[in-house]
Amino acid sequence: MEENKELLENSEEVVSKNFIEQIIEKDIEEGHYDHIMTRFPPEPNGYLHIGHAKSILLNYGLAQKYGGKFNLRFDDTNPTKEKTEFVNSIKADVEWLGADFEDRLYFASDYFEYMYEGAIKLIKKGKAFVCDLSADEIREYRGSLTEPGKNSPYRDRSIEENLDLFERMKNGEFEDGSKVLRAKIDMSSPNINMRDPVIYRVARMTHHNTGDKWCIYPMYDFAHPIEDAIEGVTHSICTLEFEDHRPLYDWVVKELEYDQPPKQIEFAKLYLTNVVTGKRYIKKLVDDGIVDGWDDPRLVTISALRRRGFTPESIKNFVELCGVSKANSSVDYAMLEYCIREDLKLKKSRMMAILDPIKLIIDNYEDGKVEYLDADNNLENPELGKRQIPFSKELYIEREDFMEEPPKKYFRLFPGNEVRLMNAYFVKCTSFVKDENGVVTEVHCTYDPETKSGSGFEGRKVKGTIHWVSAKEAVPVEIRLYENIVDEEKGKLNEDGTLNLNPNSLTVLKNCYVEPNLAQAKPGDSFQFVRQGFFCVDTKDSTEDNLVFNRIVSLKSSFKIAK
Ligand code: ATP
Ligand code: MG
Repeated sequence: MEENKELLENSEEVVSKNFIEQIIEKDIEEGHYDHIMTRFPPEPNGYLHIGHAKSILLNYGLAQKYGGKFNLRFDDTNPTKEKTEFVNSIKADVEWLGADFEDRLYFASDYFEYMYEGAIKLIKKGKAFVCDLSADEIREYRGSLTEPGKNSPYRDRSIEENLDLFERMKNGEFEDGSKVLRAKIDMSSPNINMRDPVIYRVARMTHHNTGDKWCIYPMYDFAHPIEDAIEGVTHSICTLEFEDHRPLYDWVVKELEYDQPPKQIEFAKLYLTNVVTGKRYIKKLVDDGIVDGWDDPRLVTISALRRRGFTPESIKNFVELCGVSKANSSVDYAMLEYCIREDLKLKKSRMMAILDPIKLIIDNYEDGKVEYLDADNNLENPELGKRQIPFSKELYIEREDFMEEPPKKYFRLFPGNEVRLMNAYFVKCTSFVKDENGVVTEVHCTYDPETKSGSGFEGRKVKGTIHWVSAKEAVPVEIRLYENIVDEEKGKLNEDGTLNLNPNSLTVLKNCYVEPNLAQAKPGDSFQFVRQGFFCVDTKDSTEDNLVFNRIVSLKSSFKIAK
């Protein structure tokens, strides 16, 4: 009985396992590995984005699930574009996401010596040769998808000659690009990656870690499997564009005779609508000054999401909802918004803030009086407690909450209409004032002292409730609203390949007011502003004297999760 139950539970679990988990479990069952190890191998040539977050959380999650280890390894074998700034930002982002790599932080450049030894081993086995063809000639000899390649005339150099030449390559005796080391595999392979691929090149480049020690550098396809094998990685998870490179990966770990050789598994990249993923595009936006850095809140780099006010939990949930797949597809940005709303809904206080103020004057309220009204911080989560909000004769309300001539079904303020001021009294609009341009500058009303919320008043009903702040006590702040950075409807790219940017992606509102309880808000703190959305104090530009809030997400959503 007990055994059956366990079997049933296990078999039910199988259904929800993704294909990578299935591969790992089979490997464990068949005894291929005595441990499980995954890694995240970023190239430090930019900041990480939401797609990388998926890879990080996937790799970290698998290590956790199977009692294994997770490494953060910088794939820094191409010195030209790599920078220490990026190394630091990547570390911070991985930590923030909660993927704890402990002391398991590695640099591929620390393995240059092993890679060099690996190359020598291949030469000694007759599996690699030094080739003098130029880059163009190598391309010509390679053939095409429909035609086999031709052997290089240097392919049959003796092992001794190859060893000598390779050492001299290393010693700097040859010009950049004049010689390469190639794996000797098969020029007629249907897979072009297997047609004697280049594995080392001569290139005088100063490396951020090894300086000028090396003038030969390994190619990615040769270096990556060695990095994995040295660390004891068992499952080397990468994205689909490497699928055709897998035979070469397998060839390298086989020829270098590693015990428990690592296995490459590919999954589909995460793409999102309405935003820009891809370091190349993000870098261009940064370099062209279109955004204010890699962490501009309109980007989906991890640092931008953090600055905008996204939480690690919301990103984890998002990535889980996306699932792991072998087919490329684009996920709706609205799903990411759904995840942050869900995460913040019960955790954050619901405060009052006016984005586009207009004065509301309560003519029958005593001049100079300030009373403090009780308000629940979050009606759905009593644990967040209560606060007090000052109320007085002059308030600010949203301009759009008053209309001189309302359309049907407009239940907010208009002459003669009564509404509830949230957490306060009923007010009835009596008149309004316009300036010479016809712009309404003041709305006047009277209040009914009997209608105080929270005093047990349950009398007559009104259809509209609006929010407000007390004009004198409110704190002036700056609020930034965001829209998609690219115009998805018309296509992300213009015909010339440049990004089709949305000119309204950023709106800066300088004349906003928040209730005084927000005066103490610290960079990174986030709140709901009732009826407006979730907002986060900007970590870069906000100061004590000039608070800056970023809108994380509005409250409205078109996105529904099928339950
Ligand atoms: P980009 O294409 O955005 O420039 P990249 O692949 O060049 O990214 P790397 O630093 O080489 O960036 O990637 C580190 C790891 O992150 C790799 O294993 C890569 O497959 C994975 N990765 C990159 N982009 C995505 C994505 N959109 N979705 C999932 N994983 C990704
Ligand atoms: Mg890359």
